[in-house]
Amino acid sequence: MSKPAICGGTPVRSEKIFYGHQYIDEADIQAVVDVLKSDYLTCGPKIAEAEEKLCEITGAKYAVLCSNGTAALHIACLAAGVGAGDEVITTPITFAASANCALYCGAKPVFADINEETYNIDPACVKALTTERTKAVVAVDYTGQSAELDELLTHCHENHLVLIEDGAHVIGTSYKGKKNGSIADMTTLSFHPVKTVTSGEGGAVLTNNKEYYEKLLLYRAHGITRDSAQMANEPDGPWYYEQITLGMNYRMTDMQAALLISQLDKLPMFSARRKEIVKAYDEAFSQLPQLFVQREIPESDTTRHLYILRICPDKLTIDRKRFFEALAAENICCNVHYIPTYYFPYYKELGYEKGLCPKAEKLYDEIISLPLYYAMTDEDVQDVIAAVTKIVNYFSK
Ligand SMILES: *Cc1c(COP(=O)(O)O)cnc(C)c1O
Repeated sequence: MSKPAICGGTPVRSEKIFYGHQYIDEADIQAVVDVLKSDYLTCGPKIAEAEEKLCEITGAKYAVLCSNGTAALHIACLAAGVGAGDEVITTPITFAASANCALYCGAKPVFADINEETYNIDPACVKALTTERTKAVVAVDYTGQSAELDELLTHCHENHLVLIEDGAHVIGTSYKGKKNGSIADMTTLSFHPVKTVTSGEGGAVLTNNKEYYEKLLLYRAHGITRDSAQMANEPDGPWYYEQITLGMNYRMTDMQAALLISQLDKLPMFSARRKEIVKAYDEAFSQLPQLFVQREIPESDTTRHLYILRICPDKLTIDRKRFFEALAAENICCNVHYIPTYYFPYYKELGYEKGLCPKAEKLYDEIISLPLYYAMTDEDVQDVIAAVTKIVNYFSK
């Protein structure tokens, strides 16, 4: 095996920088400590407070906090009525959870290809793959740029499908002047530490639909209700509750909800800084013809969760793998988002094969996620730009 070629000189940075990092301040720490000293560690007042705050920020009527973004996708699919024999259309350029949620319900994920310039799910492909079995579409706002929600919603409603927006990347973004979270039938969020705001682990489903909201509450907590209007029997007494469907325990703790509330206070600040960094990257990389800059759709006022560097392999003497290694040698530690979901052995066993979504597959071969997070200094940003430029110039054809 030949050693990977790496450009000469001393590394651009002496210390490693990683692709993402949470930002926790004293107010966050105090918020968690306050809950620990209170009466409720779970099922307490912080849950409703965080849900109200999410509604305020996103314009959604209802919010259901849950244990993580994957749980949010699962209960959203259940509330949408996804079940055995159904099909759910999603993109392969996402975290596996966007398709796994269909499998949890006994349904079949169907992968639609992406737009080659925005990298979001292509509504034309969604339309072409819609069948009588299709029950829902899980559209991911990849990198934080809104999917084409208007076109997707129109298609979904014309065909009696439910549009679930996997908004794990999208908090802080709006689409045609409306906040993401108040547009699709349901929008799921994730508060994993790499995302724009964090609660450690955490997630939520946002909706304007009361029926979905009531189902989401049931699926979050065992399928149990304390509302006599939903019960089959007369209550035996004030202690009485009934399990009326099969739900999970996907509750969030009050410590996490308190952290989330405190983090949401900083969303405008997080969002503004991410936009600045993206602007600096875009300006620098649009000067280099060996790179392709992700196209912004003008309808989306995007807060990016990820910055995707895309190389043009025919203009460089190295491929993505060696570019990635060259960045690591400069102490810029990146990541790749995402391996197409159906490449995984588990999906292969289910019968999915390479070649399903050619544009997504080509994208996967050409991308690297660069460092992007609130606490990056201007110097960090300049180091990343310097390292990318150094490698591009060194390996240019
Ligand atoms: C992070 C993420 C998820 C899953 O969220 P968790 O909170 O980690 O369960 C789902 N979809 C996308 C697109 C994500 O980025």
